[in-house]
Amino acid sequence: MKIVVLDGYSLNPGDLNWDRLNAIGETEIFDRTESRDIISRSSGAEILLTNKTQLSAEVIDALPNLQFIGVLATGYNVVDTEAAAKREIPVCNIPTYGTQSVAQMVFAHILNFCHHVQNHSDRVKEGKWTKSPDFCFWDYPMQELAGKKLGIIGFGRIGQKTADIGEAFGMQILGYDAYKSDQSNRSDFKWVELDELFSQSDFISLHCPLFDETKGLINSKNLRKMKNTAFLVNTSRGPLIVEEDLSEALEKGIIAGAGLDVLVSEPPISENPTPLLTTEKCIITPHISWATKAARTRLMDMAVDNIIAFQNGSIQNDVTGKGR
Ligand code: NAD
Repeated sequence: MKIVVLDGYSLNPGDLNWDRLNAIGETEIFDRTESRDIISRSSGAEILLTNKTQLSAEVIDALPNLQFIGVLATGYNVVDTEAAAKREIPVCNIPTYGTQSVAQMVFAHILNFCHHVQNHSDRVKEGKWTKSPDFCFWDYPMQELAGKKLGIIGFGRIGQKTADIGEAFGMQILGYDAYKSDQSNRSDFKWVELDELFSQSDFISLHCPLFDETKGLINSKNLRKMKNTAFLVNTSRGPLIVEEDLSEALEKGIIAGAGLDVLVSEPPISENPTPLLTTEKCIITPHISWATKAARTRLMDMAVDNIIAFQNGSIQNDVTGKGR
């Protein structure tokens, strides 16, 4: 069984091992693959694993031995699933592996906004504490989360875990979702419509998927509904936000800050980059919410489990809907 991994680096830059995969068959693991090399590298593969390398209909049709496509991620838009389905090739993704890690990252951004940890450390290292006449000093306003309202848009797995953590901090939770699940176990929770969520929340965290109806949800009009003290977090998908509008809102003080783990263009393009890269009050991390070692370990294990299930004739997590 020939197995090719086209872009294994972001999953395993060297701190995990591919032993379980290697045990299944003859493996060839590439860190990254340019589009011009996809077909030649995949030639003869029965099993093909991709994270972000595009598998178009042309690629799939050029690989007669291909029997299984594994996606090393939840999102599988990089694969032409229709072309795969036509050939009865299952495309198996990893539906959930990083819920805890992503929710944790939401609070890395929120807590940084509340305490300005790095900014204060920078001041200390610049010598400001050494010269301080008092035992302490602070250069940034700090705030406590207890009693603040946390608005969560998209109340699925990550949204609910974020709510759990918010509750532990004593926050009130406002939830918005296209589908309202039972949240009666929560003591301080309210389903609201978007307008109320925007106008009442002190912190807003985005956890809805990127669909046509959610694209550009955070725009000038909705930003103006928010409190000027509000802090926005996006760990979901960059295009949920109109970046020019958010940049303007931050510059003009329409909202107080933003913490983003995702951008419209990833990596950011160097020509005509997003204005958020230079917007004060915007903290940006490079799409790393998913990338704790624990989450990547789970992801790799599930990817191998998907292949083993396929070999045993009990396909799991097939997104083509063909499932054999
Ligand atoms: P999920 O499917 O469990 O939850 C998504 C929720 O959004 C569901 O409850 C769904 O009903 C709701 N929803 C659908 N359409 C909506 C709409 N129009 N308005 C409001 N809510 C809507 O997904 P999840 O596991 O919680 O993941 C959420 C998102 O997090 C994913 O879509 C993905 O983009 C993102 N994510 C990011 C990272 C990262 O590293 N930054 C990692 C994993 C996932």
